[in-house]
Amino acid sequence: MIKEIIRKSLNGATLVKEEIASLFSVPLFSEESSMIIAASRKKSETASRGTAEVHAQVGLNVAPCPKNCAFCSFAVRNKVFSETREISRQEAIKKAKQFETDGANAIYVMSTADYPFEKFIDISGDIRKKLHPETILVANVGDFSKDQAGQLKDTGFSGIYHAVRLGEGRDTTIRVETRLETLENARQAGLILGTCVEPVGNEHSVEELVEKTIITRDAKPVYSGSARRIPIPNTKMAEYGVVSEARMAHILAVVRLALNYAIPGNCTHEPNVIGAAAGANLLWAEAGSNPRDTEQETEGKRGMTVMDCVRVLHEAEWKVTQGPSKFFSA
Ligand code: SF4
Repeated sequence: MIKEIIRKSLNGATLVKEEIASLFSVPLFSEESSMIIAASRKKSETASRGTAEVHAQVGLNVAPCPKNCAFCSFAVRNKVFSETREISRQEAIKKAKQFETDGANAIYVMSTADYPFEKFIDISGDIRKKLHPETILVANVGDFSKDQAGQLKDTGFSGIYHAVRLGEGRDTTIRVETRLETLENARQAGLILGTCVEPVGNEHSVEELVEKTIITRDAKPVYSGSARRIPIPNTKMAEYGVVSEARMAHILAVVRLALNYAIPGNCTHEPNVIGAAAGANLLWAEAGSNPRDTEQETEGKRGMTVMDCVRVLHEAEWKVTQGPSKFFSA
């Protein structure tokens, strides 16, 4: 049966939820699991014409965020950051320029959900002016209105990163509907979407993985994939431990098979060779703030450089795109 589901996916047919659940339920290191990973890699290579990308994110601030997502170091409840700290406009520009120089295929600007939107637009506009016109800029911010989506587009963003996270509305104070409205607002403004099944923890059921996988497929993004949750010390979520990279490779492979060929990208985070070998063709470098880190600036800590990510992709036998993201130019 698993062989048949894999063949159906590779032939370009859409998998139904029971089929996706069957793929998620296959035991790790079994013959069938190897078949899933091999098929995922094949589908990724076909969908992206054999190339992988490195995107790089500049986090503008750390702050105790009232949205209180249990998995995030910025959440008020996790008591990691008690005060707001922001990098300066000049620092943000410098970090974005550095990523451009290092060869990132797209540059993301991220802030916490309660960061003033006008300020985000203002600083992002200055970043945009200092980058080459062809450099792809992507926004990673909280939920936004139709009007704000238009402002992001007018500022020069090609797209957004946004996700209905695992545990949305249960482990966060944000409704699933609010996240979906934001995706629709972005779509109407002409912003391209990148998304992901994240942050995966050991406690998540196959049913929830399937549900979130289908949400990412229905959102018609240019990439989806899967990323694991990084435990924030002394938090409730930390008690669940961390999903192994081997299991994440299986999960991102199933997500790849559940998504159609029109979606070229398959992401994983944090970057690792086994995930990339299993079909992940998009990795992230990070600078500034990072919701998985307890340090104010993630460089040299959890955050990897563009060169680190390229090395991981090369170890996994991927050719890395030179120049602007092909995913976001799709
Ligand atoms: S994930 Fe985003 S919305 Fe949730 S607490 Fe962190 S910064 Fe706030």
